[in-house]
Amino acid sequence: MSVQPNNTNRRGKLLIFCAPSGTGKSTLVQFLMEQGLNMHYSISTTTRPPRGTEQNGVEYFFITTDEFREHIKNNDFVEYEEVYTNKFYGTLKSQVENQLADGQNVVFDVDVNGGLRIKKFYGEQALALFIMPPSIDELRRRLVARGTDAPEIIEQRLARAEYEISQAQYFDAQIVNDNLDKAKSDVLAVVNQFLG
Ligand code: ADP
Ligand code: 5GP
Repeated sequence: MSVQPNNTNRRGKLLIFCAPSGTGKSTLVQFLMEQGLNMHYSISTTTRPPRGTEQNGVEYFFITTDEFREHIKNNDFVEYEEVYTNKFYGTLKSQVENQLADGQNVVFDVDVNGGLRIKKFYGEQALALFIMPPSIDELRRRLVARGTDAPEIIEQRLARAEYEISQAQYFDAQIVNDNLDKAKSDVLAVVNQFLG
């Protein structure tokens, strides 16, 4: 009887994606998830309530602010942020460790500060990718064309983009999402090289 190679024998790796909102990060991450590379989303913990069909332990772990504070006190988070007033989001070390130990490659879709903290914590095990918009004008066009955000929200996102772009230099790789097919093949090449 032959022994089949088993993913659970191999520790997974971390893939961190950051980009200004509207750049095309979700589009590129979705593409990557479909490539049969054993990619799984990191499940964050949050104090915001579930939206729509969201379920505890699937999209997020939904906990109270007191529970969140307890995790902070116990140093349980790789990173956490108060993304909106009184709405905390964080990555639990135990959750990431469980996924990695299962052999999963874990994909992070977090803000720039959280992404860089995860990279710092995991070092060589993690690849931090910054997806760059071709220009701020094009970013605005994409946000408007996507049609999901009110004009003032679009302005807030654009205002934050400048700061986010200033952090791109600290990432392992930067990929410009101008032509989408080219960006997809660039992401795949960098990720495949990293996974070895
Ligand atoms: P993000 O997750 O970074 O906020 P999305 O993936 O939602 O961005 O993309 C924002 C919008 O831009 C979407 O409508 C998407 O279809 C579009 N888009 C993504 N990549 C490109 C591209 N290379 N050229 C033009 N439009 C794009
Ligand atoms: P939403 O409430 O729309 O699901 O997420 C709001 C924002 O929180 C998004 O920008 C998302 O990337 C960010 N976010 C989600 N989980 C985490 C996390 O664990 N850490 C950090 N720093 N940001 C997160």
